[in-house]
Amino acid sequence: MEKISLQINDLSEMKIFATKLADYFIKNPAIIFLDGDLGAGKTTFTQFFAKEIGVNDIVTSPTFNIFKRYQGLKTFLNHFDLYRIKENVYDQGFEEYWFSNEISIIEWSIYLPDEFKEMFNLKISIDIVDENIRKIELNGDNLVISYIKENCHEFIY
Ligand code: ADP
Ligand code: MG
Repeated sequence: MEKISLQINDLSEMKIFATKLADYFIKNPAIIFLDGDLGAGKTTFTQFFAKEIGVNDIVTSPTFNIFKRYQGLKTFLNHFDLYRIKENVYDQGFEEYWFSNEISIIEWSIYLPDEFKEMFNLKISIDIVDENIRKIELNGDNLVISYIKENCHEFIY
């Protein structure tokens, strides 16, 4: 695991970042954690990402139903938002999706039970700087971090 930090200055840069990550995860389906306060841009990131992997449905915040599954061109996208999870995570059957060869994006990974807290391949933590600017901390396996270093170098600081 390796960490890097990015600065994203506006929505168009978030779109570029999400699109580049999607290009990687299409070929390497895995688990992405997405953390940050309400309004940080977790769902916005997921919408850009979903578009790039060929999801035609409109991606909305899954806050009220916790989990939504979308068909992409080459892989499914499983989108979780654990903010309002009241049920036991273990009773939901989510592991079936997490441990599949599909992409899972998990908003609010901080609400996962301890045993799942390290299962990410990439963890994205978004901080709000102002209306448009976001600071992003990335922690991920060495392959995805080196891909980001190569392909998103304009955002690294
Ligand atoms: P979350 O899912 O983290 O609660 P949302 O994605 O629902 O957040 O909302 C983020 C809001 O911030 C959206 O209205 C989006 O247009 C706005 N926004 C402004 N600048 C950015 C940026 N650089 N990246 C992501 N979202 C941004
Ligand atoms: Mg959200």
